[in-house]
Formats: sequence, structure tokens, C-alpha cells
Amino acid sequence: MRTPMTIADFLDRADLGFRESTGVIDEPDQPAPPVPAATYGTFAERVRAWQAGLDALGVGEGERVAVVSHNSTRMLELLFAVPMSGRICVPVNFRLKPDEVAYVVRQSGASVLLLDPEVADALSGVEVRHRFVLGEQTETELMRFGVQPRPWSHPDEDATATINFTSGTTARPKGVQLTHRNIWVNGMTFGLHTRAWERDVYMHTLPMFHCNGWGMPYVMAGLGVKQVVLRKVDGAEILRRVEEHGVTLMCGAPAVWNAVLGAAATWPGEIPGRDRVRIVCAGAPPPTATIARVGEELGWEFTQIYGLTETSPLLTFNRTLPGDAALPAEERARKLSRAGLPALGVRLKVSDSGEVLARSNTVLDGYWEKPEETAEVLVDGWFHTGDGGTLDPADGHLTISDRKKDVIITGGENVSSIEVEDTIFSHPAVAEVAVIGVPHEKWGETIKALVVLAEGATAEESDIIAHCKRHLAGFKAPTSVEFRDAIPRTATGKIQKFKLRRPYWSGLDRGVN
Ligand code: AMP
Repeated sequence: MRTPMTIADFLDRADLGFRESTGVIDEPDQPAPPVPAATYGTFAERVRAWQAGLDALGVGEGERVAVVSHNSTRMLELLFAVPMSGRICVPVNFRLKPDEVAYVVRQSGASVLLLDPEVADALSGVEVRHRFVLGEQTETELMRFGVQPRPWSHPDEDATATINFTSGTTARPKGVQLTHRNIWVNGMTFGLHTRAWERDVYMHTLPMFHCNGWGMPYVMAGLGVKQVVLRKVDGAEILRRVEEHGVTLMCGAPAVWNAVLGAAATWPGEIPGRDRVRIVCAGAPPPTATIARVGEELGWEFTQIYGLTETSPLLTFNRTLPGDAALPAEERARKLSRAGLPALGVRLKVSDSGEVLARSNTVLDGYWEKPEETAEVLVDGWFHTGDGGTLDPADGHLTISDRKKDVIITGGENVSSIEVEDTIFSHPAVAEVAVIGVPHEKWGETIKALVVLAEGATAEESDIIAHCKRHLAGFKAPTSVEFRDAIPRTATGKIQKFKLRRPYWSGLDRGVN
């Protein structure tokens, strides 16, 4: 038998078997009235109310609904409500500037824009057919409680469920089309490798907009796992909530775990969750020292995954295997610093040029309305990750060592160097610019701009940075600017970024951080 694998499978099971159990605890400290602690039964009811509301608004199947929100129960509800009714959810990074959000809304053709109260004023000028502020307005003017929504007419696992915009090699972000099937397989495999089960308590230490919170919300619901919403990453607050809610499982970039380690240093008494919490780290290669400290200072189990928005995201998984448990801590940390073994169902190979290629049911359908860009990454049945790496012939583990694509990853956020270069170039004093990632202790990498000023023009480092902050989300602005007389180019006029980066990365054993 073949039945379509859709997102409804996850929530329907929660609504059936976990109707009375606590499903989601909203962030208490937020500008909208928090949603009262929901059981999976009431969570599913609210999901139906969103769907009935979208029906009443005349939003058809296949239409796009964009959501710009910090983590919240409402955002989580929409990650289910929109795709489960055959519509497409477009979660948007809440740090983007109005022009950047306008681009995403335009490019995805979204007819509805749902905004967290914190960003609503700033984004009031973004053109869209229907706009609502999450909270009182959606509760009274959009959601229809107690009304049965129209069911999705032809549930199809190959239908697009979400479009997640990601910064890549192009100046503007591209919309990654993930299907229900992509998300389903990712959820199942992720749940399997993280050993998720009914007694887990999951905390959202990841932004939900980032690849749908790596797809974890779906599998957590499917298993009836209690989910705790966290709006802002703060090390001490994470520790407090781990204690308060009995959290067992969290995902995040290395910067999140560094923040927790920082807070743990002054935490009074025993660290909560010792020998109970498992964490999943990805987004950048975690420093071996961070891995060792998570074990020693927190007593939490460290695991690593590697993946991309384009792969839903799971491609590899790494945890200390039973045979390695007796190894010295340092050696275990070194082994854990690798991206890991391909997840079940994932095939990896490294091309002659050193690029990591992947085949998996979690690989994207395509970039939304960008056939050329899609053809560039899906070649002969292999997805081109743009990351450089090696596969250990002894145990099949992948190590990410380099980046082929022109992307900087700072604090877990991807930044397209080209986008920053375009912006800096629009400053009247700038004649030439190259933007590179350089190592940074807290953020892994940080953005550096190398700038050649126009004849007779003057500008300070702070002018260039302020110019970027005016036009781009803050995390995309360089943290340093170096003025140069010239930027070396090849005979064909190309800037060789790897050469510009080299002096800043010398002494490190890899070219990404
Ligand atoms: P995103 O699409 O925003 O999730 O970013 C995906 C990119 O993050 C990948 O192409 C890698 O460059 C980087 N990345 C993700 N996980 C890891 C990891 N475990 N180690 C090294 N880089 C990673």
C-alpha cells in the first residue's frame, strides 16, 4: 500500500494519542499574549482554527503564507496549519530588514504575511494582499475557532510544504522548496538518530524559521513530546528552563552551546540536566574544546549533525559509539568534532575537486522559480553542497574542512558575501570590495570587508559598517573593514577569496569555523 507521507501524519498522531498531554509551552516573555500551555488536543484545535481562517480569507491550496516571527507557539502552529491544508508556509528570518522581507514576499508570491508584534511596525510598508499581526489580531480577525476547515483536496507527499529562504552563492536569497516527503523522511531519520521518544522534552533553542527548526517540531509532535518555546537565546535562561521543564533534547549552532557554557561558569549549584540532556550541534564545525567542555562542565551528551536547508537538513549524524566510550575524553571529543556518519538513507561522496555531494530523500525539490540555480546544484542525481570535506575510509565519517561556496556562517546565520559586497559597493566612496569570513571566538566566523576607496574619496570603517546596517540585517554587516590600495585579481579579473582569507586562517587546520 502507498499512502501519502504528509505533515498531517505527525499532528494527527499527536491529536489521537496525546490529546491530553502537554504539547507546547509558549514563551512567557513576548509582546503578544502568550498562548496558554497547550495540550496536543488544543494545539490541533488551534491549527484547525488557522486553517478555517485561511479558508475564509480565500487563500487557496498552493498559495504561500509568509511568517516573520521569533519563536512562538503561533509560529509553531503555522508550521503545521499551512502545509497541512495544502498551502505553502514561508518562514522568514525575523532579523531581515524591510527591503529584504519585501524581496522574499515578492519572490515567493506570498498572499498572506503574518508578523510578530516586534517586527510589525518596521515591516508595515511591505506590500502584500493580507497582513496580520500575530496575537490579538490573528485570534480575533483571522482564526476561526470551532469551524471545521476544508480538508486538503488531494494530499500529495510531493507537494511543496515550505519554502525556506537561504543565503547562498547569489546576492539574493533563494527559496528552498521542501516537500512533505522531504520533511517526513527528515523527521523520521532525525528522530531515530537522536533516539527521540515519548518521555523527551524538547526545547526550541533553534530559530523555527531556520529550516523549520531543522524539522524537529514535526517528529516531536508525532511522538507526543512536550515542546518548550524559547524566544531568545540566552545561556542562563536555557539552563533555567532546562531545570524548570525537565528538558532532555535541544538543537543549536556552536554559538548557542558556547553561551550555555559561559552561563554555566557562574551557575549556582548543580548544572541542570546532567546525564539527561542530549544536544545536537550543527551549522558550523564545533571547536573540539567546546565539545569536551559540554561533556565535562555540563554533563550533557554532545552529538553533531551536518546538513543544509536544501537537505531538510539532516545529512550526517555523529555521536560517541559504544566502542569509543572508554576512550580518553580528548580523543572522544576529537572524533565528535567530525560531521558524522551519513544518516540512514543518505549517500555521500566527495568529488574530485573535494566538494561533498549527497543523495537522499531529504534533498530539495528545487529552488522556487529558479530552474537554472536548481540545475547547478542537482547534477546527475547528486546534490552539490558547496562544502569541502573528506570521508574517512576507515569508518565512513565525514569531516567538513572547507567551503567552496562564497558563504560566511556567523553565529549559525548564513551570509552571502556577494550580498554584502553589493551593499558596500553602493557606498559612493567605494571603488572595490571583497568580503570574507575570518575566524571569531564567539561567532565561529565574522565578516571582514577589504575595501579600496575611490580616487580622492574618504570613508571610515564606521561609515562602511553603518551603511551596511542601514540596508541589511545587522548580522550581515562586517565587524571590521580594512582599507587596501588594491585587491589582487587573477588574469581573468577574478578575486581569489581563498587567497585573501589565507592570512587570517593560518595556524588553523581547517578553512571554516
Ligand atoms: P543552512 O542552509 O543555513 O542550514 O547552512 C548550511 C551550511 O552550514 C552548510 O552548507 C555548511 O556550510 C554549514 N554547516 C552545517 N552543519 C555543519 C557542520 N556540522 N559542520 C560544518 N559546517 C556545517
